[in-house]
Amino acid sequence: MQIQSKKSFAMIDYDRCNPRACDPEKGICPAVSACEHKVLKQIDGPFEPPMVFMDLCMGCWDCLEACPLEAVYRRHIT
Ligand code: SF4
Ligand code: SF4
Repeated sequence: MQIQSKKSFAMIDYDRCNPRACDPEKGICPAVSACEHKVLKQIDGPFEPPMVFMDLCMGCWDCLEACPLEAVYRRHIT
């Protein structure tokens, strides 16, 4: 049986990401809130950029649309 690897997943541009700009009061990342698959997590807490658990990413790109600073991008593996 051949196991297929993921071809694309979300990544964070940490130079652009700024949770304080997205949510000045609570520091919650809108892209994290948008990801129903719990692939993005602010594991260091509010006001910290999210981590991507890329193996779980479904490539639905809801997070891209939710990020106002365009800090989420598609990463493709060939
Ligand atoms: S929405 Fe985008 S810029 Fe804002 S905290 Fe999340 S990843 Fe960073
Ligand atoms: S592409 Fe979809 S599954 Fe992957 S991190 Fe973004 S919202 Fe979550």
